[in-house]
Amino acid sequence: MRATTIHAPGDVRFEEVADPRIEEPTDAIVKVVAGCICGSDLWPYRGHNDIEAGSTIGHECVGVVEEVGSDVKDFRPGDFVIVPFCHSDSTCAHCRAGVQSACVHAGFTESGQGEYARVTQADGSLVKTDGMPDDALLPSLLTLSDVLPTGWHAAVAAGVKPGGTAVVIGDGAVGLCGVLAAAQLGAERVVAMSRHEPRQAIARAFGATDIVAERGKEGGARIAELTQGIGADAVLECVGTDESMKTAFAVARPGATVGFVGVPHGVELPVRRMFQKNVGLAGGMAPVRRYLPDLLERVLSGSIDPGKVFDLTLPMAESPEGYRAMDERRAIKVLLQP
Ligand SMILES: [Zn+2]
Ligand SMILES: [Zn+2]
Repeated sequence: MRATTIHAPGDVRFEEVADPRIEEPTDAIVKVVAGCICGSDLWPYRGHNDIEAGSTIGHECVGVVEEVGSDVKDFRPGDFVIVPFCHSDSTCAHCRAGVQSACVHAGFTESGQGEYARVTQADGSLVKTDGMPDDALLPSLLTLSDVLPTGWHAAVAAGVKPGGTAVVIGDGAVGLCGVLAAAQLGAERVVAMSRHEPRQAIARAFGATDIVAERGKEGGARIAELTQGIGADAVLECVGTDESMKTAFAVARPGATVGFVGVPHGVELPVRRMFQKNVGLAGGMAPVRRYLPDLLERVLSGSIDPGKVFDLTLPMAESPEGYRAMDERRAIKVLLQP
C-alpha cells in the first residue's frame, strides 16, 4: 500500500510500504476513508522526538473494515468504523476503571495517513456506525479518533461542571475541542486563550464566551480581571510546553484542577504553588474508547459539529504539504483523503 512515512525532521513522504496484515486473532485491517494530521505528529516533524527513518506516521482515521482476525466477533468486512488512536481490550482492570489508554493490551494506530491501518484489539477498540455515514459527517466522525476525545478528556480531568469558569490554553485543534467540551459540560464562562483570528472564530462557534489574546503574565492578568481576582475553576492545558503549563497553574484558582492532555515536552511542575494553593493536576493520554459512544451520539444527532477544526483537505498523496501547512500554522488541522 501507499502511506505517509517520516525519514527525518521536515522529511515526510507518501510512498510504498508493506501492507499491514492480521498478526493476532484479535486484529482487524481497516481501509482508511479519511485520516488526518495531529498536532503531536509535529513533535517528530520538528525534530523534538526520535525518528525511526522510513516508519509510517499517522494515528487518526476512520474507515471500512477490510478483514478481521478469527477472534473478532463484533465487526465484519464492510462495517464503517471509528478507529481510536489507542487500542484497548476494554475488559482488563485498567479499561474497566476508564483508563483504556493504559490497557494491558494497548496498541496504537500506526498508518492512519495511509491506505490501510491495522487495529489490534478490534472488538474492544472500534465503534461502528449504522451503515455508511453521509460524506458531510466525515470530518466530525474523524475527530472522534483522537482530537475531540482528547479535548473532552482535558475538560473531564479538569473537573468542568455546570457553572463556573473554564480556561483553555492552546488554540490548536485539541484546545478548540477543549472549548467545545467545556461548553457542552456546562461551564458558564469558557475562556479561550488565542491570538489567531480564525481560531478565535472557531472557539466562539464552539462555545467560548471570552477570548484572551495576551500570553504569559499579561494573559494571567486578563484572566484575573475576568474572574474578579479569583482565578479559573477549571483549566485545560492543551499544548504540552513548560510555558503553557506555567500559565495553566498561574490562572487556576485555589482548589482547582488543571486537566492536561498536551504531550509534555520539557515541563517542570510548580509543585510549591500546587501545594500552597491546593491546585491539582489530572489527565494524560486520552482514553478515547471511554468517551466514544457518548461523543458519537452527539455527532450523529447534530448537537456538536467538531469537524469545523479541519480547515484544509488534501488528497492523501499530498500529506507532505499538509505537514508544511500545519507546521507553518497555515492550517489548524489537515484532513487527508485517499
Ligand atoms: Zn492525534
Ligand atoms: Zn484493557
